[in-house]
Amino acid sequence: MSVEQFRVDDKVAVVTGAASGIGRATAVVLSEAGARLVLADRDEYNLEQTLKMVDEAIAVPTDVSKQASVGKLIDEAVSHYGRVDVMANVAGIMDAGGPITSIDEAALDRILAVNLKGVFFGVQAALRVMGEQRSGSIINVASAAIDAAPAGLAGYSMTKAGVAILTRVAAAEGGPLGVRVNCVAPGFIVTPMTQRGARRDDGTVDDAKMQPLVDFMRKRSVLDKVGDPTDIANAILYLASDASQFMTGQTLRPNGGTAMPA
Ligand code: NAP
Repeated sequence: MSVEQFRVDDKVAVVTGAASGIGRATAVVLSEAGARLVLADRDEYNLEQTLKMVDEAIAVPTDVSKQASVGKLIDEAVSHYGRVDVMANVAGIMDAGGPITSIDEAALDRILAVNLKGVFFGVQAALRVMGEQRSGSIINVASAAIDAAPAGLAGYSMTKAGVAILTRVAAAEGGPLGVRVNCVAPGFIVTPMTQRGARRDDGTVDDAKMQPLVDFMRKRSVLDKVGDPTDIANAILYLASDASQFMTGQTLRPNGGTAMPA
């Protein structure tokens, strides 16, 4: 054992959602820990900005809700680097909000397509390559919503609970092939996703609107904290690295103690 096991030198890591928030922080942390990156997102402008923040990387504009697009992403990773060691399925949206009785089919389809099918396609494409390699680590991002059952977030919570069970089934299938599959369920993190309701028309964040939400979420944490994207990126780094070689089928919960399932 050595602290070096927490590094990911030369591992090839694909990160979806890399243009923003947790995905961008994951790209930066994995790069600092030595990884070679394949950055994916549908937001091409901000994907290019992330590309400038890391060392060795390529950017592949991707729509995770489309199987062919995710297939192309993994193909490009393999053709550029020859392998895929880490797949971080971070991209997601918080949509289809409101009471169950008011959610329309189009909004439900959108969130299922990105948050559930998107992660499924990422797991599927990565497992195919990693299974042949006989090694790899897949990390899926769920949410503390899987523990909290928050009113008004049925669509989002359903997709994240789906990600958690998909993780366990994929771990069962991947284990005999030498592939680990784990999940991270973050608590409240300040990112463009959670700032959306406080955004002005010009794109800037109205602190007077944002602060009450942050205070509310902070009080739910036994640490009296909300999280930073790096808190989640660090958990992803651990799961990507050989330091977690005995971990598979698990859900890590960096959530400030808002939920503590047995
Ligand atoms: P974010 O800042 O909005 O970043 C998400 C990124 O994913 C955005 O760049 C987004 O692009 C991209 N994306 C959305 N749909 C996509 C698609 N179909 N194909 C490719 N890229 C797509 O959100 P975040 O807070 O970092 O969230 C990252 C993940 O953590 C999500 O899965 C989220 O559910 C999860 N999470 C977040 C929190 C939190 O408190 N922030 C808590 C628990 C879990 P657009 O901007 O164009 O949509």
